[in-house]
Amino acid sequence: MTGTKERILNEVDRAQDEITDFVSALVRIPTVNPPGDAYQDAARFIGQRLAEMEFDVDYPVADEAADHSERYPRINVVGLRKGRTDRPLVHLNGHIDVVPPGQGWSVDPFGGTITNGKLYGRGSCDMKAGIGAAVYACEALRRAGVLLEGSLEVSGTVDEESGGFAGVAFLCESGRIASDRTDYVIIPEPLNVDRICLGHRGVYWFKVTAYGRIAHGSMPFLGDSAIDRMREFLDAVRDDLLPQLDARVTEIPVVPAGARHATLNVNAITGGQSGQMPQSPCVADRCEAIFDRRFLREEGFDACKREVESLIARLSDGTGRYELEDLMVVHPVDTKASSPVVSSLEQSIAEVLGRPAERIASPGTYDHKHVARIAGVEHCVAYGPGILELAHQVDEYCTVDDLMNATKVIALTLADLVASPEGASA
Ligand SMILES: [Zn+2]
Repeated sequence: MTGTKERILNEVDRAQDEITDFVSALVRIPTVNPPGDAYQDAARFIGQRLAEMEFDVDYPVADEAADHSERYPRINVVGLRKGRTDRPLVHLNGHIDVVPPGQGWSVDPFGGTITNGKLYGRGSCDMKAGIGAAVYACEALRRAGVLLEGSLEVSGTVDEESGGFAGVAFLCESGRIASDRTDYVIIPEPLNVDRICLGHRGVYWFKVTAYGRIAHGSMPFLGDSAIDRMREFLDAVRDDLLPQLDARVTEIPVVPAGARHATLNVNAITGGQSGQMPQSPCVADRCEAIFDRRFLREEGFDACKREVESLIARLSDGTGRYELEDLMVVHPVDTKASSPVVSSLEQSIAEVLGRPAERIASPGTYDHKHVARIAGVEHCVAYGPGILELAHQVDEYCTVDDLMNATKVIALTLADLVASPEGASA
């Protein structure tokens, strides 16, 4: 290991208390989404730290976003530390929002306490530890006197848990993350400290509405039940569609292995006088169900939608009993394994952890989609501290070891991607 790398790793070690204090303090800011609490406090807290570390900081506000309000501003933070030249530019992005804590915690979900080497709290793992790793990886380079050829950018963005439209999508749409200025994007989501996430499957959310004919509930034979129509549709999904989906497997290394198949979940169903009390006796004339279909790169969106359409066509037999509505489409993303950001992270993981990295893809989507689809940046991965399965759980935590190791891995990767070949300053 060269002297520069050793100095960088030493600087991370020396900063351990600062790093854990930073993450704990961030956990104590309850940025719960929905509704988007305390975004301003979290953005300013990160921004102040970045400013102390010689970043130029600004706070892009997505003031046209639907959820933006004076009470709940959609405020992001971006810091830029320029090197000798603008590029290559590495952008490190973490979302500041967390999901609600839920019931049953044995510790204060917003306490940020550390016990037995575990830093607890809602968002500790997903993904405030990741933000801490990103910030202090950059700082370790500065403290180690590493000269930057290119530039480093760190952002803390809002609303990832609800789609990221006022966060990363907004930064991409406004050109802050763009292929003509941004070379690499690393998103330190918790996917385990030795795994590099290359992308995710596609998402197709759709609504099927079944229509019937209303009649008196005492004489159901005079009507046509929309709930029965929906049952026919669900039976066909179970008997005809699901076995086909289960037989399809993607080449992309999605984890866990069950998510390597095409999947479909019925997310919600409502029909008749659902939720109303009291009720009058009627045959249901309307029933709706919402479906979450995860499709494979190998399937593609068009074929995936055609399959649903032909199922509906077969069941309706020209009677117009069903209607299909698209709610959301996210295409699969899949960064090439030959990307420099992948090979650089692989080398850094091997150096820091002494074991080979694993390449994976995520079962669900995350902000990578916006970086790839809107900004057109092809070199984007997720890599960060924390155990994937702990995200959104009760008693969520990130180990201090993971946090330190991920900070080291990211720091060495940044040095590899943007440090000057002339090496360190005196
Ligand atoms: Zn996350």
